[in-house]
Amino acid sequence: MIQDKNEQRTQLSDLGEFGLIDHLTKNFSIKNKTTIKSIGDDAAVLDFKDKQVVVSTDLLVEGIHFDLSYMPLKHLGYKAVVVNLSDVYAMNANASQITVSIAVSNRFPLEALEELYAGIETASKIYNIDVVGGDTTSSTSGLLISITAIGNINRSDTVYRNGAKPNDLLVVTGDIGAAYMGLQVLEREKQVFNVNPNNQPDLDAYTYIIERQLKPEARRDIVSLLKDLKVKPTAMIDISDGLSSEVLHLCKHSEVGCDLYENKIPLDPQVISTCEEFKIDSTTIALNGGEDYELLMTIRQEDYPKIKANPNFTVIGYIKQAKEGAHLITRENTKIPIKAQGWNGLKNQ
Ligand code: ADP
Ligand code: MG
Repeated sequence: MIQDKNEQRTQLSDLGEFGLIDHLTKNFSIKNKTTIKSIGDDAAVLDFKDKQVVVSTDLLVEGIHFDLSYMPLKHLGYKAVVVNLSDVYAMNANASQITVSIAVSNRFPLEALEELYAGIETASKIYNIDVVGGDTTSSTSGLLISITAIGNINRSDTVYRNGAKPNDLLVVTGDIGAAYMGLQVLEREKQVFNVNPNNQPDLDAYTYIIERQLKPEARRDIVSLLKDLKVKPTAMIDISDGLSSEVLHLCKHSEVGCDLYENKIPLDPQVISTCEEFKIDSTTIALNGGEDYELLMTIRQEDYPKIKANPNFTVIGYIKQAKEGAHLITRENTKIPIKAQGWNGLKNQ
């Protein structure tokens, strides 16, 4: 899927490293006043005045974090940006710049990298961020992409993982489990395709969950919504590895416990129906599936009236004393200790 039918294949060596960088980055424009010097010098120069600077980085490796047989490169570029921005938003910060580093094998023609960069450019427009640098090198096999996201925030607004207090509400944005079920459908279709390449998959029943896998969005809107509602979460984390592992991170860093109610976990109807079809328990998927990029936060009880009418937020539980532990309260009202089995890039290696 790297090469589309009769498309052109320009060897990367035809451009040389600098020609390639120029070519890939020529469309990037500067959107943020904090960007003083962008691509082209030895380093980018940013000026955040009296703000705190938030930095987060991620590395994505072909065959581990993505599979190009069903992940179009344009989507990969978009997703690579989005997953990094999600970490900045999870600090309650505004994301303003990224750097993009790639290692590519000669299996990839220029046209493939153009696709990747088209996705990066789309994301940078939608999220209003500047691409201010990066690095380009070759790899003996496959594609690696590393993005560093930079954001800024007023000191008093920063939200860490460690501020949750007993009696706070545990709140999640959007719905969860969809990206993981989207991946299950894509994996199944890949198997079917390998057996019978003429079989055209009918994916109509799975559009939402596949989109959540291939084109996730980061919750930039929640950062501004929280500001508008005048709610500062006591703790926050983005859901990249599954709800259970993120809940445990919050509890551990904040030195608290929690009760999480199974019947409150927000699931899209497509997640429920696909779980039934695959004969998997939807709660297991919500707890352990990954890549939702929603935000999990704790808020004070007194802030509840400010969020309660807003469909973006669902209260899924309460923070408890550390000694009470972290539990799932099932529909049958039994208490099960929460374990982290979250999606983990190293798990199957
Ligand atoms: P150096 O030799 O100092 O590492 P490079 O020649 O690698 O510099 O990069 C030149 C400029 O292009 C720098 O501003 C760098 O940040 C930027 N750059 C390099 N590779 C990429 C890339 N893949 N995407 C965006 N910017 C890049
Ligand atoms: Mg370099």
